[in-house]
Amino acid sequence: MATYDQWLDTYSDAYDMLPGHVEIACPNCGQRCLRIVFTGRPDRDVGYAAFWCDHCLQGIGISRTLIPDDAVVRDIRLPAEQREPKIPNFQLAV
Ligand SMILES: [Zn+2]
Repeated sequence: MATYDQWLDTYSDAYDMLPGHVEIACPNCGQRCLRIVFTGRPDRDVGYAAFWCDHCLQGIGISRTLIPDDAVVRDIRLPAEQREPKIPNFQLAV
Protein backbone atom coordinates (compact mmCIF):
# COMPACT_ATOMS: atom_id res chain seq x y z
CA MET A 1 0.00 0.00 0.00
CA ALA A 2 1.34 3.42 -0.97
CA THR A 3 2.30 5.74 1.87
CA TYR A 4 1.00 9.23 2.56
CA ASP A 5 4.27 10.69 1.27
CA GLN A 6 3.99 8.77 -2.00
CA TRP A 7 0.45 10.04 -2.41
CA LEU A 8 1.58 13.58 -1.64
CA ASP A 9 4.31 13.38 -4.32
CA THR A 10 1.75 12.11 -6.81
CA TYR A 11 -0.68 14.86 -5.80
CA SER A 12 1.96 17.44 -6.62
CA ASP A 13 2.41 15.97 -10.12
CA ALA A 14 -1.34 15.64 -10.65
CA TYR A 15 -1.99 19.18 -9.43
CA ASP A 16 0.32 20.53 -12.13
CA MET A 17 -1.93 18.95 -14.79
CA LEU A 18 -5.07 20.74 -13.64
CA PRO A 19 -7.57 21.73 -14.89
CA GLY A 20 -6.78 19.10 -17.52
CA HIS A 21 -7.23 15.37 -17.12
CA VAL A 22 -4.84 13.74 -14.65
CA GLU A 23 -2.98 11.20 -16.77
CA ILE A 24 -0.65 9.61 -14.25
CA ALA A 25 -0.61 6.28 -12.52
CA CYS A 26 -1.99 5.68 -9.04
CA PRO A 27 0.92 5.22 -6.61
CA ASN A 28 -0.93 2.31 -5.07
CA CYS A 29 -2.40 0.20 -7.88
CA GLY A 30 -0.87 1.73 -11.01
CA GLN A 31 -4.19 2.44 -12.75
CA ARG A 32 -4.74 5.85 -14.32
CA CYS A 33 -7.91 6.54 -12.36
CA LEU A 34 -6.81 9.42 -10.13
CA ARG A 35 -9.29 12.16 -9.26
CA ILE A 36 -8.93 15.53 -7.56
CA VAL A 37 -12.01 17.36 -6.30
CA PHE A 38 -11.76 20.61 -4.37
CA THR A 39 -14.21 21.91 -1.80
CA GLY A 40 -14.41 25.59 -1.04
CA ARG A 41 -16.29 28.80 -1.56
CA PRO A 42 -16.67 29.65 -5.24
CA ASP A 43 -15.53 33.22 -4.57
CA ARG A 44 -12.30 32.20 -2.84
CA ASP A 45 -9.26 30.47 -4.27
CA VAL A 46 -8.33 28.42 -1.21
CA GLY A 47 -10.07 25.26 -0.08
CA TYR A 48 -9.43 21.62 0.63
CA ALA A 49 -8.87 18.80 -1.77
CA ALA A 50 -9.72 15.14 -1.97
CA PHE A 51 -7.27 13.12 -4.05
CA TRP A 52 -8.07 9.49 -4.65
CA CYS A 53 -7.99 6.60 -7.06
CA ASP A 54 -11.34 5.45 -8.48
CA HIS A 55 -9.90 1.97 -9.03
CA CYS A 56 -8.48 1.00 -5.61
CA LEU A 57 -10.32 3.67 -3.57
CA GLN A 58 -7.33 4.89 -1.65
CA GLY A 59 -6.05 8.43 -1.39
CA ILE A 60 -5.42 11.46 0.76
CA GLY A 61 -7.04 14.69 1.85
CA ILE A 62 -5.26 18.04 1.54
CA SER A 63 -6.48 20.40 4.23
CA ARG A 64 -5.58 23.75 2.67
CA THR A 65 -4.62 24.27 -0.92
CA LEU A 66 -4.86 26.80 -3.71
CA ILE A 67 -7.71 25.91 -6.06
CA PRO A 68 -6.55 26.22 -9.68
CA ASP A 69 -8.68 28.11 -12.20
CA ASP A 70 -11.35 25.91 -13.80
CA ALA A 71 -10.76 22.97 -11.44
CA VAL A 72 -13.69 20.90 -10.15
CA VAL A 73 -14.93 22.68 -7.00
CA ARG A 74 -17.75 21.68 -4.69
CA ASP A 75 -19.53 24.51 -2.89
CA ILE A 76 -18.74 24.28 0.81
CA ARG A 77 -21.86 26.32 1.66
CA LEU A 78 -24.07 23.42 0.59
CA PRO A 79 -24.82 20.57 3.00
CA ALA A 80 -22.26 17.79 2.49
CA GLU A 81 -24.81 15.40 0.96
CA GLN A 82 -25.77 17.96 -1.72
CA ARG A 83 -22.24 18.70 -2.93
CA GLU A 84 -21.39 17.55 -6.43
CA PRO A 85 -19.55 15.65 -7.67
CA LYS A 86 -19.83 12.92 -5.05
CA ILE A 87 -16.62 11.70 -3.49
CA PRO A 88 -16.56 7.97 -2.70
CA ASN A 89 -15.58 6.69 0.71
CA PHE A 90 -11.94 6.05 0.03
CA GLN A 91 -9.33 4.79 2.44
CA LEU A 92 -6.88 7.43 3.65
CA ALA A 93 -3.22 6.57 3.22
CA VAL A 94 -1.04 6.91 6.32
ZN1 LIG B 1 -5.33 2.96 -7.37
